[in-house]
Amino acid sequence: MDSEGVASWRRSPGGLVTAITPLMRGRDGAWVGWAGAADEEVEPFVEDGLALVPVPLSGAEIELYYEGFSNATLWPLYHDVVAPPVYERAYWDAYVKVNRRFAEKAAEVASEGALVWIQDYQLQLVPKMLRELRPDLRIGFFLHIPFPPVELFWQLPWRTEILEGLLGADLVGFQVPGGAANFVRLARRLLDVKTQGSQVFLDDRTVSARAFPISVDVEELAEVIHRPEVQERARQIRADLGEPGTILLGVDRLDYTKGIGQRLEAFGELLSEGRIKPGEAVFVQIATPSRERVEQYQLLRDEIELQVGRLNGVYGQLGSPVVNYMHSSFTRDELAALYLASDVMVVTPLRDGMNLVAKEYVACREDLGGALVLSEFAGAAEEMKRAFLVNPYDIEGMKRKIMEAIQASPADRRARMRIMRRRIVEHDVAKWAEDFLAALRRT
Ligand code: ADP
Repeated sequence: MDSEGVASWRRSPGGLVTAITPLMRGRDGAWVGWAGAADEEVEPFVEDGLALVPVPLSGAEIELYYEGFSNATLWPLYHDVVAPPVYERAYWDAYVKVNRRFAEKAAEVASEGALVWIQDYQLQLVPKMLRELRPDLRIGFFLHIPFPPVELFWQLPWRTEILEGLLGADLVGFQVPGGAANFVRLARRLLDVKTQGSQVFLDDRTVSARAFPISVDVEELAEVIHRPEVQERARQIRADLGEPGTILLGVDRLDYTKGIGQRLEAFGELLSEGRIKPGEAVFVQIATPSRERVEQYQLLRDEIELQVGRLNGVYGQLGSPVVNYMHSSFTRDELAALYLASDVMVVTPLRDGMNLVAKEYVACREDLGGALVLSEFAGAAEEMKRAFLVNPYDIEGMKRKIMEAIQASPADRRARMRIMRRRIVEHDVAKWAEDFLAALRRT
């Protein structure tokens, strides 16, 4: 909203929006979503060929539904309980209420027999609610984060409601086959329904649960890295860092699932053991601000900043820290330049649905340079077995793999990168969306 009260729109960043925008454009579809600010009642409008249908959230709902149930309950529970989930009845009540609002809005705008595709863990009750309102629709749901094993999901006081909510869909998509298998097993255990392979048999219909690994926009990234100013920026970054032998790079939202502390611990021990010399290698860690009103995120920020301060205090020299840490957001161009400038990309989540940063890195390394250190606990590891795979809980193992990645011969790096790139180029984000929609049409 500008000073004269005229509303303008900014596209929200992130993989999901990038993936779905081209798909929606040119189709006779509508996008139902939160407008991005509290208490804003906005009429549906068309922006750049996209019909947008805003759903309002109050300040209290942002706190209870979004920061609460979505990010303090579901997020840690679905990520292997790496932080304790908060089970709070007021959060749940808000989750039900907001999910109902989304379902009602979708029911209102969908045409007869339309395909409706519901995205992610904030809206797991919508499939069932929407089916009750509009049995004529074909309903798909995609979960962008991991789906946990039955033994963890069982903790959730509202486990039956969430499962039944999801089973309102005709097709439920997951990042990896293990998530789909967890879901099918949960349905069998909790509801005592029959299942076979990816199918869950309900009384009156069948629900399909399958993996559709999301990916990145390879073409868009290629366009970015081909621009001379981005390549020049990559050279400039290396120069600014003092032309070290090795630049290690981490790019994450500042989130406790990302294993940032573990990777810095490994790097610190390599320095203390003299296996890495200050000045020869530099670690660049970008930590994007995230969910700053949730307490666990505030604590994490303090922990990481303490760790960075200690490492630089002990091993840094005047004007040349061993860790360059930035708590800020970057443009796509700047991120791409960082990917090009770095020798070793270090992606070590304790659990991650996919991890698009790992795929972006591979997509950007057309030069076949660079090495990827990747956690076995990221969905991306299933498609990129030629990365230097690590268990982020095993600090010794991680140190070994980081050293292997640093010391790998150019021929070895090229061979690994070529195989990883083939996978990503053939399975980009457009293919992800097409595959899902084609499967939904077939249900
Ligand atoms: P998550 O969805 O958990 O944040 P992903 O790695 O799957 O993790 O996706 C993160 C996305 O956010 C990537 O597309 C990445 O390029 C982008 N991103 C991460 N850090 C920054 C940053 N500092 N500035 C801009 N974009 C960022």
